[in-house]
Amino acid sequence: MSAGWEAVLESCLRLVTPCGREVVARPYALGRILAAPVMIDRDYPAGDLSMMDGYAIEAATGGTLQVQGENTPGRGPGDPLTTGTARRIFTGAELPAGATRVIPQELVQRDGDIIRIVETPGTDFVRQRGSEGRRGAVALAAGTRLGAADLAILASVGAMQLEVTARPRIAHLVTGDEVMAHSEQGEPGTRIRDSNSDLVAAILRGVGQTVLDHRRVHDDRDATCHVVAEMAKDCDVLLISGGASVGDHDHARAALESAGFRFEAHGLEVRPGRPIGLARRGDQWAVALPGNPVSHLVALHLFVLPLLLALEGEPLRGPRLLRGVLDRPPGGGVPRRDTFWPSAMSWIDDAWRLTPCRFLSSGDLLGIAGANALLLLRAGAALPQAGDAIFFLSLAPEFSNASPA
Ligand code: AMP
Ligand code: MG
Repeated sequence: MSAGWEAVLESCLRLVTPCGREVVARPYALGRILAAPVMIDRDYPAGDLSMMDGYAIEAATGGTLQVQGENTPGRGPGDPLTTGTARRIFTGAELPAGATRVIPQELVQRDGDIIRIVETPGTDFVRQRGSEGRRGAVALAAGTRLGAADLAILASVGAMQLEVTARPRIAHLVTGDEVMAHSEQGEPGTRIRDSNSDLVAAILRGVGQTVLDHRRVHDDRDATCHVVAEMAKDCDVLLISGGASVGDHDHARAALESAGFRFEAHGLEVRPGRPIGLARRGDQWAVALPGNPVSHLVALHLFVLPLLLALEGEPLRGPRLLRGVLDRPPGGGVPRRDTFWPSAMSWIDDAWRLTPCRFLSSGDLLGIAGANALLLLRAGAALPQAGDAIFFLSLAPEFSNASPA
């Protein structure tokens, strides 16, 4: 089965059941999604506060006023203002009862205890009680992905424990007789050092997620079936690197099917990454990823990240394509499938400039040094030239579908 990748992704995302919710303490809430609104605990500000160092007065009248007392921040309103007097007041301090405005000290002449207002400003320099938020109103809505400013708001309203959406428990299985784990001694010779595990870990870290269960298996059908069945007992998402295709030594699909997963998609019209498979068992998902590193990079960003974010409870949406300008043409001819070409993006003169990397094959990992974007070349469309407007997918979480940890 093969189908348009956008349609397949959309239909898979529709089948996602988010992982639920959990409670975390505020210091651990950065990057999480609120599962319930957080309410404002009292009026903000809690009283009428001065915005300036100066004098609180009843009304802007001419003549002189006698200074009586002093209000400093955090010490309450003090005694009510009596007629004919002004209260010395500082920024952030509460106004006394009877005062309606603050005259900044620069606009006042003071002689002993007597002040004369030299100039009456057009503003009252008062932050009115409740003007920024009323007790019981919503401070942050459910669904908010908590950033630094949000954490400051939560601290301000005294929210210590937050109900957030749960993140998927992710397992990662590396397959391939030729793949050498970092724990193995000696030179690899013609074998290949495992780079996909680092790639997966780094991409997940970018969205605040981690692999909880990491294993390896040789290209043996029974062993693959066994380990897949074991890992699938206790995860929300199982990622399998390699063995996604239909060769004699590719067992990911058979193992997933024998564990009761059903494939929602088997092969997609994208390059690189065509053999990718997306499978489901109830609320659990598994993704069979082609082992070649560049295919891996593309498949992880195009399909796995949207899936993980949907499981975390983000509004369903596919990868977010950005607009840019091409620096120089990528190589090759008119693509037969939608192609995601590893590229370097940089912000120059108010636009994203895309420089295609070398891309000899989906195994050319060294060619994509510096890649932080994927240039989209549509199937059948003429290759874009230098200066042409293009669409691309950012690999940096802050610009892509993902959100920073
Ligand atoms: P496969 O998808 O299993 O046919 O793997 C295709 C190719 O991807 C292999 O021949 C390796 O060159 C490469 N590959 C597979 N797994 C990994 C890995 N974990 N790290 C780096 N390269 C890999
Ligand atoms: Mg393999």
